[in-house]
Amino acid sequence: MQTPSAVVVLAVVLMFAAASCVGGQARVAVVQRPPTDMPNAYYVSNRPPLEPSPFAKLPIGAITPRGWLRHMLELEAAGMTGRLAEISPWCKAEGNAWLSPTGEGHSPWEELPYWLKGFGDLGYVLKDERVIREARKWIDGILASQREDGWFGPRSNLTNVDGKSDIWPNMVALDALKSFYEYTGDARVLPFLTKYFRWQAAVPRADFLVGSWQKVRAGDNLESVYWLYGHTGEPWLLDLVRKVHERADDWTGGVANWHGVNFCQCFREPALFWMQAKEPKYIAATIRNYDTVMGLYGQAPGGMFGADENCRKGFGDPRQGAETCSLVEYMHSFEMLAKITGDPLWADRCEEVAFNAMPASQPPDQKGLHYLTASNQPSLDAKNHAPGVQNGGCMFAYNPHEYRCCQHNVSHGWPYYAEELWLATADNGLAASLYAASEVAAKVADGTAVVLTEETDYPFGETVTLTLTAPSPVRFPLYLRVPLWCRGAKVALNGKALKVRAEPLSYIVIDRTWEDRDRVTLELPMRLAVKVWEKNKNAVSVSRGPLWFSLRIGEEWKRYGGTDKWPAYEVLPTTAWNYGLQVDPARPEASIEVVRKGGSVPPQPFTPAAAPIELRAKARKIPEWGFDRFGLCAVLQPSPALTQEPLETVTLVPMGCARLRIAAFPTVSTKADAEAWQADPQPAHAAGASYANPGDTLDALSDGILPRNSNDPDILRFTWWDHKGTREWVAYKFPKPRPIAWADVYWFDDTGGGGCRVPKSWQLMYKDGDQWKPVTLAAGAAYGTAKDAFNKVAFAPVVTQEVRLEVQLQDGFSGGILEWRVGPPAGG
Ligand SMILES: [Zn+2]
Repeated sequence: MQTPSAVVVLAVVLMFAAASCVGGQARVAVVQRPPTDMPNAYYVSNRPPLEPSPFAKLPIGAITPRGWLRHMLELEAAGMTGRLAEISPWCKAEGNAWLSPTGEGHSPWEELPYWLKGFGDLGYVLKDERVIREARKWIDGILASQREDGWFGPRSNLTNVDGKSDIWPNMVALDALKSFYEYTGDARVLPFLTKYFRWQAAVPRADFLVGSWQKVRAGDNLESVYWLYGHTGEPWLLDLVRKVHERADDWTGGVANWHGVNFCQCFREPALFWMQAKEPKYIAATIRNYDTVMGLYGQAPGGMFGADENCRKGFGDPRQGAETCSLVEYMHSFEMLAKITGDPLWADRCEEVAFNAMPASQPPDQKGLHYLTASNQPSLDAKNHAPGVQNGGCMFAYNPHEYRCCQHNVSHGWPYYAEELWLATADNGLAASLYAASEVAAKVADGTAVVLTEETDYPFGETVTLTLTAPSPVRFPLYLRVPLWCRGAKVALNGKALKVRAEPLSYIVIDRTWEDRDRVTLELPMRLAVKVWEKNKNAVSVSRGPLWFSLRIGEEWKRYGGTDKWPAYEVLPTTAWNYGLQVDPARPEASIEVVRKGGSVPPQPFTPAAAPIELRAKARKIPEWGFDRFGLCAVLQPSPALTQEPLETVTLVPMGCARLRIAAFPTVSTKADAEAWQADPQPAHAAGASYANPGDTLDALSDGILPRNSNDPDILRFTWWDHKGTREWVAYKFPKPRPIAWADVYWFDDTGGGGCRVPKSWQLMYKDGDQWKPVTLAAGAAYGTAKDAFNKVAFAPVVTQEVRLEVQLQDGFSGGILEWRVGPPAGG
């Protein structure tokens, strides 16, 4: 949900908006943040001098997920992640560098640890012995690989970056080891991490975190150093934190990197360092990083932002996707930030991605995945959509054999989520941070072990029921998160309403002497709401509580590859998707009906058929809206869109249920002053080339979109990349002969960032019968190669059906064109 910036509240703010007594000693209050004036007595959190933690993570195994979340995890175990070793060459045990005591072998980089970090947690969360056993084999291999100096894992990573070490793959492996320790308490882990971080501390500063992704992503390393400090308290670890922070890319001064996954896992780095530095600028930087990217590219429902590899200026339409790695890394960041800050807004954001984006990243049986999930994505075909999305090749279809990084990294999405449902509070209580059916066993108060059972249909239902099991009466505070979207939350104890006025973005605290079988009922009223995306042409999205809604689109699942056991599917639309909504954003209930299906929530609720809740909305088709020349749903044009199509009642389902989706809708009007949409504008001329980079497009030549400079990143381009120093050409072919007497060309040149330059020279040819002939330049005309300008030549008029622009590329460089215009003689 688009939300206001998180308020930076560093001190504990206790707001007794309404405090009342229940059963004598009880206190019911509403707080913006839980207190931090003492550390939790039973679970590891920050030690002095670090900023005290409002929350401590419960060890893996303390929380048992139930309901749909459990089923998602079971599907994951039976699906691609649980069986990835069958299909991924990077997870082949034989000869694997991560299993070798000397670190020699294949697959030395991120893939294996990416998979292992979620795979192990999946086993621990489900207590699935097969998975735990298989993970253990790899963990043992990693633990056995440590050298005397502390380095571990594949040896090639020691000299991977110009002879210096690449510690990025090890950062991922540390996550797997931390979880293993939390679950088993294995005595090898803490000394292993200590020895490894001593190795890091000993690396000369100039050789540490040199270039590459390790420098961008060094915040991941920070988190593991803090984790060890929480367990051992050795002061030198905080010196290492400072060294890592100082050698890392600077995320405090602004967004250091616009790669989608890098952003999702790195924007939090300043907040991590804030725990030690304590200067407000650090936590403010994390909030600002988030607001910056979401403000530019997150103007669509679902909690993600458009970065179909990198964020690209001009590519902020809801059709721009987010990589599956980005989804799980964003969720992980939000989980961390909820614990670091105590700000419930981060938990809201985690739920938003989990419910709306995450389920569509995989098919319902989780036996595959795709690379990109977008808010508006009405076809998941296997075609190339570049440069509408940044990468060439198949990015949308579900395939268990492709999308290398995501294929392994998707593993931790649901397990980490399940581990964060409940948190321990500093005052030895418990907090419901993310809502889902579950059971939590934890120590509270004086060390009494209690169990809380959470029953709920959330996010489809509004009621959460908690039942306590306790061996004896015990006093502790229970914190219940109130999301930003929730007005009028109500809470009852053993059937009796408690008097409380819970503002959005707060925690209701019930601090009392609890007794066995006590029951708390929390109501989180979910209202229909419509969000207007001013920055996306006033499109609208419909929400109810934490769920966004998509048009329900008929799906045809069509196998296009893979193996019989692990097939790959395209999902193609069988019904129209080009609808705009007729809705009053201020009064959505006037035109939208909520239909709740009876019975309990299905085990896998995230399919169109299983959707536990549907909306009926009023809509009209927009005939001009269709797939564009990149095979993508055309970018939104301004709302309200003019249409005379009949008013229909359409069904909306939760976005997470919709793999084919339109969730950012135009609005429609039949009135003449509405916006008349254009069908996808086509380039002026049919073009050909000696060679065209598949990630770029010949459409750029005559699309009429004029560059602001030769390295304009906002517009389509054509390049001959990666042909270097060669002779190349582009050509226009007209439907019939026409007179031309001038041409101008705007060269692409990405000096400073890439390998394209203006050409060494060029000339124009035209076709005369079967012959290509050079044009005769007008007196004083010359073939210019200026940057940041059109280079215009006039020539003796010719009448031709084909014209060709030939270039000689500079030695060692490629080249490209942003726009190429040709025109008739003056007055002609
Ligand atoms: Zn990925």
